[in-house]
Parts: sequence; C-alpha cells; structure tokens
Amino acid sequence: MRIQWRLMDFPRNVKRWVAGKLENCHLAMFTLCYNQFTSFHTMLDAALEPMFWIVDHFTKYMGPIMVTLVVILTTMVVAVFYICVFPHIWYQTEMLWVMVHFFFAHWLLANVIFNYVMAAFTSPGLPPQNVPQAVSICKKCISPKPPRSHHCSICKRCILKMDHHCPWLNNCVGYYNHRYFFLFCFYMWFGTVYVTFAGHDVFKQHFFGKEELTVPAFFFPINMAYQKIWGTKYETKKAEAASSSKSPSTDDQSPEALTGYGDMMFHNAIIFQFILCAGVSVALGLLMVWHAHLIGRGETSIEAHINTKQRKRYRKKGLIYKNPYNFGFWGNWKRFFGLGRGRTFWRHVLFPSFHDPLGDGLMWETSTYKSSHSNGLQLL
Ligand SMILES: [Zn+2]
Ligand SMILES: [Zn+2]
Repeated sequence: MRIQWRLMDFPRNVKRWVAGKLENCHLAMFTLCYNQFTSFHTMLDAALEPMFWIVDHFTKYMGPIMVTLVVILTTMVVAVFYICVFPHIWYQTEMLWVMVHFFFAHWLLANVIFNYVMAAFTSPGLPPQNVPQAVSICKKCISPKPPRSHHCSICKRCILKMDHHCPWLNNCVGYYNHRYFFLFCFYMWFGTVYVTFAGHDVFKQHFFGKEELTVPAFFFPINMAYQKIWGTKYETKKAEAASSSKSPSTDDQSPEALTGYGDMMFHNAIIFQFILCAGVSVALGLLMVWHAHLIGRGETSIEAHINTKQRKRYRKKGLIYKNPYNFGFWGNWKRFFGLGRGRTFWRHVLFPSFHDPLGDGLMWETSTYKSSHSNGLQLL
C-alpha cells in the first residue's frame, strides 16, 4: 500500500524537482544579470559585444589596406580618363567644350586629392589635460571630456567633436578634419558622376559594340606603348585563331569587332571604369546626402544617435528636446565651413583651403530658444 502511494506520486515529484531546479536557474540568471538600467538596448549591446570587439581590433589593420585601395582605384580611374575618355572628348566635341572639360575635370581632381590627403593626415583634435569646460570624465582615458568630444575605441583616445572613425581615411573624423572629410565625399561623388557621364559614350561603344570607334589609339605616347605591347599580342592571337581554322567571329558584340584600338586592355579598362564610377557614385551619393542632412541639423553622426534618444525621452515627459548646437540650416553650414571673418564660399569651399574651423573645439556656443504657444520651442 505504501509502495503504491510512492509510485503514484513519483511523476509529480519529478515534475516538482525539475520545476524547482528551473526556478533556481532562472533566479540565478536574473541575479547575475540584474541591473536597474537593463533594457532591450543594453541586452542588444551585450549580444553585439563580440562584433564590436572584432570591429575595434580589426578596423585599425583594415585602415592601411582600404587607404591603398582608394589610392589605387582613384589612380586607375584617372589614368583611364586621360588615356581613353579625354581623347574621345577631344575628337568628338568643339574646342570650347574640350577646354571646359579640361578645367572642370582638373578642378575636381585637385579638390579630391587635396581634401583626401588633408582628411587622412590632419589630426581630428585631441582634448588637452586642462579643459576650460568639461561635461564628463572619459572612463577609458580617465581625463576630462569637453562638450561634443567622444572616445574612439579604435584610436584609443578622445576626439574633439567626434563624428566617426573612417577606415577609408584610416583616421578619425572630428573637429579639425570634418570639413575635409565632407568635401572629399562631395568632390569624389561629383567626380564619379562626371566620369560616369563623360565616359558613357565610349562605354556604350565598347560594351555594345554597335558603333565604329573614332578615337585613334595613338593619341598619347602611353597609348602607343600599349598598342605596341598589346596590339602585337592581340594580332598574334587573332592570327593563331585564324590558322587553327576557326572562323573569326562576325558578331558585332564580340571584342574582335572592336579592332579600333586592337587592344583588349582598353576595352576592359573602359568597362571597368564605367561600372566602378557608376556604382561608387550611388553609394557615395547616399553617404554624402546623409552627412549633408546631419550638418544641416548641426549634429555629428554620434549626436544624431544621442539626440534621437533624448527626443524620445523628452516626448515621454511631454517636453520637446532641441539640439543646443543647431543654429538653423544656413547657420549650421556657415559654422561647418568655418566661414565668416572674411572667408568666402567661392574661395574657401570651392577651392582647396587650409583654414581651421572657427573656435577651439573645447568651448561651444549654444543656441537659445524661445517658447511659443503655437509652435513649441523656436530658435532665437
Ligand atoms: Zn577617451
Ligand atoms: Zn578613431
């Protein structure tokens, strides 16, 4: 009778034992993870921690590789432009247009090179030990942080008005090089759009092969060298193909139809240049528009993230959050380019200029707002 009672109770006991253990595990888990600030974002941050670790540790090694890639690809596009696209413009358009192309392309190139070199080699700005106004202490550097500065986990230092760490520059974008970074993005984007359109005609001829090429291959001495090396090899290959009783292709789209250059290298270079520039112009265009949008709002990339959180917090309390560094659209752009004090848009933005931003990056002027019943807070 007693044994029967125990057997009857066995499944219930097991269930209770398992439930008890699970309860303990649950409690232990919550005890370990308990934090009154724990939220979904904290958990997400913790889950993504390994990814951040990889980014922090490998971006600095990726930097030199990516900078080399930018230099190589830009040099290749410029070379293809000089060798293949510019001769085409020369033969197809009037002298006046050739001159316009010549000056415009070189103005773009000068701005791209200048802003890239300056963005990559200008220090973004490091806070000194004694700052006139500190908003907090950096937990990593154990030193005071001026307003708008943030710690870069890749550079392992605090950066004045930090925007982001750019692997394409192998440098942080901050107070002293933010203008160079944006202008580089803008001129590089403009350059890729220009090369895409200028090279569009010659690309069509090569890619679709419908029209006869009108540009002689020996426009520049380098073309002659190519003609000598590649032209000969190409002719030999063609002769070999003919002797092996294979009839040469009569298809217009085949490279054999493009004997204007007699050079497969040129053919591939033109297609490569067009596809690269068209792709980069779309990607860089989106990046540039995003940064232009932030600059117009008086925010850095980091502040955009912080301000969005602040806005939500204020809204929950029935308040409106206003960015203290927003001086209105034109005011923000003027401050960003460091204009004023005799500096003009024509001279200091459209042409390479070494001028420093206004102020010192340590003390920041803030905008003041007035309260209006109809529109909430308004910029004074
Ligand atoms: Zn720091
Ligand atoms: Zn950095």
